[in-house]
Amino acid sequence: MSTLSLNIVTPNGSVYDREDVELVVLQTTAGEIGVMYGHIPTVAALKTGYVKINFDNGSEFIAVSEGFVEIRQHKLSIIVQTAEAAKDIDVERAQSAKTKAEEHINSEQDRGDVHRAERALERANNRLYVSSLK
Ligand code: ATP
Repeated sequence: MSTLSLNIVTPNGSVYDREDVELVVLQTTAGEIGVMYGHIPTVAALKTGYVKINFDNGSEFIAVSEGFVEIRQHKLSIIVQTAEAAKDIDVERAQSAKTKAEEHINSEQDRGDVHRAERALERANNRLYVSSLK
């Protein structure tokens, strides 16, 4: 079976690199897609969610926040603001980010702050969810 190479890049640099990927499941803004070797070249926007990576002897979930994916026949490049493997997610930190964001949303703030807090809440909830998938 031909495999894909997968690279995940954030503003902090490359955080994931693998050459033997059989299937990647991605959450795009237009819905979930599965990508295998030979996929039609595409660029898509990713929402805050997970990337599921299947390889010969297992699979792994990565939490990502907003970005893009570039799909080529044998290579997939994911460019996102943040990415953490499920096993590396600090659950306490995500819980405290969630509480802080909820407090902001429930307090009297201007709309810009609320919007920022809503996105922080989305990231925190996503990290809590993905950490439960490991
Ligand atoms: P916090 O308030 O805890 O910083 P945040 O959502 O504002 O949460 P981000 O700006 O999305 O944090 O991420 C900043 C950096 O910290 C990124 O490198 C991200 O991968 C990492 N990070 C954030 N939360 C966690 C977590 N719960 N576990 C592991 N890494 C995290």
